[in-house]
Amino acid sequence: MNLVKIDAEKCKECGYCINFCPQKVVLGESTGINKKGYFPAIVVSMKDCIACGTCSRMCPEAAIEVIRDFEELGA
Ligand code: SF4
Ligand code: SF4
Repeated sequence: MNLVKIDAEKCKECGYCINFCPQKVVLGESTGINKKGYFPAIVVSMKDCIACGTCSRMCPEAAIEVIRDFEELGA
């Protein structure tokens, strides 16, 4: 399975990652706020991620890391 790591404290709730993800079910908005007062993006359905990297490239805060085949790497 792929892995998307979102640094919740960096997120400023712009929604780019959620809106531009081709697999619309992967990302959503948290119901809790971070220290900056934003509702950060969260991973809702990791299994549907195709590791395209779009969310990571779109994020203006560089808050997202995408790792393809996370388990297969033995990480
Ligand atoms: S890597 Fe691609 S499919 Fe996975 S969450 Fe990011 S935009 Fe969506
Ligand atoms: S693109 Fe980055 S800053 Fe914007 S909602 Fe997603 S994680 Fe947060």
